[in-house]
Formats: sequence, C-alpha cells, structure tokens
Amino acid sequence: MPIEVEIDLDLERLEILKRYRRLLRAAKPFLKDNDAKLIKKAFNLSVEAHKDMRRKSGEPYIYHPIAVAQICVEEIGLGTTSIICALLHDVVEDTDYTLQDIERQFGKKVAQIIDGLTKISGQFEFGTSQQAENFRKMLLTLSDDIRVIMIKLADRLHNMRTLDSMARDKQLKIASETIFIYAPLAHRLGLHSIKTELEDLYLKYTEPEGFEEIRNKLRATRASRDRFIAKFIEPIEDDLREQGYDFVIKGRPKSIYSIWNKMRKQKKPFEEIYDLFAVRVIMNSKDDPKEEKSDCWHAYSIVTDHYTPNIDRLKDWLATPRANGYESLHITVMYRPEGTDKAQWVEVQIRSKRMDEIAEKGVAAHWKYKGNDTKTTQGIDQWINQVREMLEATKDSKAAALEFLDDFRSNLFAEEVFVFTPKGELRVLQRGATALDFAFDIHSEVGARCIAAKVNNSLVPISQSLNNGDQVEIITAKRQKPSEDWLKFVVTSKAKARIKELIKEENKQYLTDGRSIIERKCKILHLEVTNELINQLRAYFNCKTPNDLYYRFGKGYINADEIKKFKHEKEAKLNVLAKINTDTMQDGKQFTKELKKMHGERADADALLIGEDMDKIDYILAKCCNPIPGDDVFGFVTVNEGIKIHRTTCPNAPELLSNHGNRVIKAKWTSQQKLAFLAGLRIEGTDRVGLVNDLTRIISNELHINIRSIAVETDEGIFEAIIKLYVYDTRHLEQLLQKLEKVEGVFKVARFD
Ligand code: MN
Repeated sequence: MPIEVEIDLDLERLEILKRYRRLLRAAKPFLKDNDAKLIKKAFNLSVEAHKDMRRKSGEPYIYHPIAVAQICVEEIGLGTTSIICALLHDVVEDTDYTLQDIERQFGKKVAQIIDGLTKISGQFEFGTSQQAENFRKMLLTLSDDIRVIMIKLADRLHNMRTLDSMARDKQLKIASETIFIYAPLAHRLGLHSIKTELEDLYLKYTEPEGFEEIRNKLRATRASRDRFIAKFIEPIEDDLREQGYDFVIKGRPKSIYSIWNKMRKQKKPFEEIYDLFAVRVIMNSKDDPKEEKSDCWHAYSIVTDHYTPNIDRLKDWLATPRANGYESLHITVMYRPEGTDKAQWVEVQIRSKRMDEIAEKGVAAHWKYKGNDTKTTQGIDQWINQVREMLEATKDSKAAALEFLDDFRSNLFAEEVFVFTPKGELRVLQRGATALDFAFDIHSEVGARCIAAKVNNSLVPISQSLNNGDQVEIITAKRQKPSEDWLKFVVTSKAKARIKELIKEENKQYLTDGRSIIERKCKILHLEVTNELINQLRAYFNCKTPNDLYYRFGKGYINADEIKKFKHEKEAKLNVLAKINTDTMQDGKQFTKELKKMHGERADADALLIGEDMDKIDYILAKCCNPIPGDDVFGFVTVNEGIKIHRTTCPNAPELLSNHGNRVIKAKWTSQQKLAFLAGLRIEGTDRVGLVNDLTRIISNELHINIRSIAVETDEGIFEAIIKLYVYDTRHLEQLLQKLEKVEGVFKVARFD
C-alpha cells in the first residue's frame, strides 16, 4: 500500500531560502555592482522552472542547482556568471524554458555556457561511438569556455554525493562514468579535492566493502598516526618558528581510493601500507613569487637538517609547475620514531599558501591571482590548444573519435617531461615522449617529415625517449613519409592522431589503385563488377571489408591474376551447388558420398575430408571460430559461399546444428598433422648488406616456415627475390607478408602462383 507523506510546503520554502542565503554568503566577498541582483533573478527563474519537480530522494529539485552553485563558489572558486549558470544548468534540458529565454534574460555568455552544459548531458555508453561523440562535444565546449566543464564537474560531484537514492544499476553506471572521465578531467584541470572526492565516492558505490574497511581502519589508527606525525614535525616547527616564519604544518591521510589502489597494486593488506599520509608544510609567504620560492627552499633546508632525504625522490615543481598548474616541492625523508627500531619513509610537501590553494581548487582559484605569475595558466592554456587541434584532426571519422577518446583519457593522468627547443623555449610533453612526439608538438608538418633528431647535440633516432632538460633539434627530409611503425613509439595523443590521419590519407591512394586493378581484371575476365561480386571477392580473399580488399590489391599483396582462380572456383562451386540443390540437400550423408564420388575420395571414411585436397574440394574455414587442422569440425552448406567448416565448439554451432541439421555434413581433417602447401613470394626492395639474411631469419626462425627455394637477383641496387616456401594456411601467409614488408629496404612483397 503506498504511504502518503504529508509534505509541509511552508517548511520546504523556508529550507530553500536558507540554502539560497548560504550560497549568497559564500559568494559575497567578490560580488560587484548588481551581481547579487542577477543571482537572485537566476534563482527565482530556477525555482519557478523546477517548481513541480522532485529529486529521486523526494526532495525539491531546486536543492540540486543551489548545491551545484555552492560547489562552484566554495570548492572551485568560480564567480557570478558560473553561479548563474549553475542555478540554471538543468532548466533548458528539463523544463519548458528555452535557450532563447535564457539569452534574453541573462545575455549571450550565460546562454552559451548553458548550451554547452545541455549538450554534454548525454550518456557515455562505454566503447560506443555515441560515447565518443558525446565526449567530443564535451571537449568542444571545453575549448569554448572552460567553465562549462567546471560546472559540469560540480554537477557530477553533487550527483555522486547524493547517489544513495538512485537504483543500484544507475549507481553503478554513474559511478563508472565518473571514474572513466570526470575524475581524470578534474585531475587535468588541477581540481585536486574534487578529483579525490569523486574517486572515493566511486569506490564507495562500486566496492562498498573495501571502502568501508579502509575508512574504518583509517579511523581506528588515527590516534597513533597523529602521535607519529606530531613527533615528526616537532623539530621542523621549532626551527621555522625560531626563524620567524609564518606557516602551517598538517599531516593528511591519503585518499581512500589511492590507499585501495596501493593495496591492490602491491598486493598488501592495509597494515603493511606505510605511506598512508603526507606531511604538508604551507608557508604563508608574501604575495611575491621570489619570496614564495625562497621560503619553500628554506623549509626544505630545515626538514633535511633533521631527516635524511631520498635524493631520487626530490620533485621540484616550483621551477617548472606541472601542466595542470600544480606548484610544490616534494621530498621523501627517512624517519625513525624515538624508542623504536623501525625507520620509514615520510613524504613532505612544501608550498606557499597560494600554491596550496591552486593545488586544491585548481586554475579557477588561480585566476584570482592572475597577473602575479603566468606560468601556471600557461600549462592549461597550452593543453586546451592541443585539445582543440586534436579535435580538428579527428573531426571526420567516428572510429578516429573513439580512438582519440582512448588516447586522450590515457593522457589525462600522464606525468610530464620538460624539454627545450634549440632557441631555449620550454615545451611540456607527456612523460615517455620521444623525439618524434616533440616534432609533432612543434608542428605536424615537422612531425611528418622527421627523420632524426639531435638531443643535446648528439644525433639520435626519432624513437629516442626524452628526459627532463633535453634540448631537442629535429632533422627533417622532404621525402620522409609517416609509417605505421611510428605509432609504436609515440605516446602523445597529438602525434598519434596526426600519424593515423596521415597514414589514412596515403592509404586512400592504395584503395583507389586496388579498385581499378580489380575492375580492369574483371573486365578482361568478363565478370561484371557488382556489389555482390565485390563481396564474394572479399570473402574469397579473406578480407574483412571491401576497403581491405582494395588495399591489398593496391599494395600488391594480392596479385590480379588471383581473380582468374576465383572465377574458376566460383564456376566449379556453382556446379556443385546445383547438384546439391537438385537431389541431395536433404541427406548429408548422401551428399558427402556424392562429393567423394565427384572428387574420387576414399570410400571408407564417411566424412568430408579436408586438408590435403585443399584445391579440389570447395570449402571455406569459418571466420567465427577459425578452425585449424586438428580441431573437431563439421561442414555447413551455405547458399553463397559453398561449404563452411566450423569448429564443433564454435559459438554458432548450436544454432546451426539444431535449426539447419539438413545442411550439416560431417567433416574431419585428413591427418592430425599440420599440412603445408606451397606458395611463392616475390620480394622487391633496395639492396643492402644482410638483407637476404634478414629475410630468411624471419621466414625460418621467427615463423618456422620451410623454404623450398630461393633465388635472388640484384640490378643497380635494386633487389628481387623469388622465394618458394611451405605455409599452413592463408593466415600464416598473411602474417609472413606483413612481417616481410617491415624489413628495412623492402618495398613490395607479393604472392604469385
Ligand atoms: Mn544537474
């Protein structure tokens, strides 16, 4: 029986006003002119628009926009425009008000931000192009106005804080989305507290037991940890005070999520994780960059007067802030509490009050200080520019958008490496970046033509990883072309996206070439080029898509003469199928006998023998289960593609066997041994010392293929080899072709009969 709950509307109205006043109080310090009036107008509109709506928890809906605005002010440090937008963020999406209404009342900027917020409200279905599409939209708005993402993060944070009232499946979906994209974005924008809280909330809903365990243990060990920290900081505090510094020292436990990750990674219980906390020294310096820095180094010197530092773990983000704006000095020192014999490492973070605020609240907090130092926002600005360029590079392809999403996400958490141009200009790249990444960072044309680099004046290959402080000069050549191999060693999403784009452009030429090769040959053979024929060719040559087919013809992997063979087999197959259709379709055994008669098979076996009569019996190995000699298999008569051999364990087997039993025929391999068939390859390239050796090494050592004969001719530096060898199947051959093509100097590998 539904329970009627009496709602006291007057009480609710009072509560709404109370929350609104709290918001105004938080915003007050920076309100100017008629800011308060505008906020009130937005508040009134939002109340009116959402008046009949309630959240899942039963509370009035307006609590949500007020809370989001409160987060924007208090936790991100955003101003009036953002407060207005936060109050109105769900109005256009969920109520009858339109963007035009908003623009009329609050102007263009507010309308633009709300538009961005409405656009990115779509769901992020994992791995779908829809997800990638929504993600793209989100990034587009990011490059329009970064406040859109910040308000979105505030919105997400409030939803995560109030996730309790949602159904379980919704909880999981929202939580996974949060860890998938929102927490990394918060990190990239330097919103440390928000990122940490989002991660902890994610854990709370997806791993409730692990979360509770760590939370309880942190509470239980708090007193002893506090004692430990108090003892540790005592001498540091004394010295700093004595020298007249204004400062605060805190010992803070790390987030539950990061402890949980550590436990999982190190496979250790809570009790054995030692760096559960970090000590933070915050210097209340004057607002002067020089003063801040020297204060921090002074504190460093005092800390290391008392404790031995681990030099390898000194991180100086004062001289070069991290790309997300983070400035701090990190050291790890050895500490042995008095009366114990167990020493442990303790991490100490030293920074000024201003740096601390940026570390917690990110760039928005920094804007208040703008003019004081520009290095901090440079990192973010540079990043937003990169995002914009990458969006531009991948805008035409959905598949590219999906890949971009992956690359982009993996970059959000990446650490940086600082390098210099020959002119001494600083460039910040992802840790692990190579000379080629650097080249693409300079300009995509420079990247595309890059053949080598000079790092600190020595010549290095383009795959060389860069270290902090390296000075890099790129050497280019007009004839250079980007290659697939490059993707193996670049790490920045900019370089990856650009290389893929360039390769695609080049491949387009092969596609056109391949298509015309096929058309010419078909004309000679009197085959009409229809979609159906292309599809049959695609299946015959084991290609996934028609483009794949064109590409392989264009590249010369498949010789045009092969089409003749296809035509013969197609005609033969039509004959067989005609026979099946007329008399033996109903009886698999009968059909098998027919087949055997036709091919002069042994009479004793009652199954279709496959293997050595590869070229006589018409069958295709099914792609769903890829049978290889030795597998348990059966044959299935298809309408267009002859007999297909499936493994009995194929996922499609139950359906085929139960619903189309009359089309199933028994099949087995003639022998349990792998059968090899002879194939010929023609390899062309530029001659060099050791080329033949390299080719044969791949063929016999890496792929264990027997070579029957090899003939090599060279003419004025051009090399041609004819190799006959035994392969097991076409897959095997394809693998070989791909490997051989990558050998230095080789430019064409083709199969011939
Ligand atoms: Mn919302």
